[in-house]
Amino acid sequence: MLTTDDHRRDSAGLLYVYPVISRRAGGVSVGINLNPNNACNWACVYCQVENLTRGGPPPIDLQRLEQELHGFLDQVLHGDFLARHVPLETRQLVDIAFSGNGEPTSATEFAEAVACVGKVIERFDLKGKIPIRLITNGSLFHRNAVQLGVRYLAELGGEVWFKIDRATDAEVVEVNGVRGNQDRVLKNLQISAKLAPTWVQTCWFRIDGEAPTAQSRQAYCTLLRQVNDKLAGVHLYGLARPSKQEAAPRLSSVTEDELMLFSCQIEEETGIRVVVSP
Ligand code: SF4
Repeated sequence: MLTTDDHRRDSAGLLYVYPVISRRAGGVSVGINLNPNNACNWACVYCQVENLTRGGPPPIDLQRLEQELHGFLDQVLHGDFLARHVPLETRQLVDIAFSGNGEPTSATEFAEAVACVGKVIERFDLKGKIPIRLITNGSLFHRNAVQLGVRYLAELGGEVWFKIDRATDAEVVEVNGVRGNQDRVLKNLQISAKLAPTWVQTCWFRIDGEAPTAQSRQAYCTLLRQVNDKLAGVHLYGLARPSKQEAAPRLSSVTEDELMLFSCQIEEETGIRVVVSP
């Protein structure tokens, strides 16, 4: 049986396709992992990928991706996968998500991979009936090839979950392990919102016992205010599962009250709706 704690990418014995039970969505999410080598262009302190390395994925075998997704959906929709592996209360397919062990848009074949998923879901008559999500750090949206993939995603009725955890340069270095460049973040976010419905996803937590400061919260609101009429919303979440990075012992959760207070501040200052997952 799968559980909500089990987010192993190899739980179905496949390279690119893995099921997880989503506590928030109340069903099975089919993950597409385009980074089977655990390589990402970012190094977030809270990342749950074991043996995370810096870099990008090897070439994607699109034929294999198609076969794996087709075979897996067939087992879920026409076979006994749900009955054998999924607790009764979550026996439904809730989404398909590009969300793997690294940044999905860093795959050279990202656009082709989206097209491939589109082909398979059409075969199962799922187009427009199941959400397709791209979980991304958004850092490569200036690339034409990535924009093409996001356009395909939008045609499939999909949406983007664009990671912005902090909005000051120093915090971005500390939290995401990359140099901060808020102008570029804003530009990429605008590109994303123009191409597909876009949610900002934000992980909010303490480092060394300290919650983000008032200045940090203000910088975040100032950044999002500039795109407030273009976003679908903000997903604000706490540390759901433990980090697999060296910094893990330094991280701890903020309280539910702190999350709710920050969500109210975001809504008041930007007018963007916020969904909170403690
Ligand atoms: S962007 Fe995602 S996969 Fe990459 S390091 Fe951050 S949390 Fe991990």
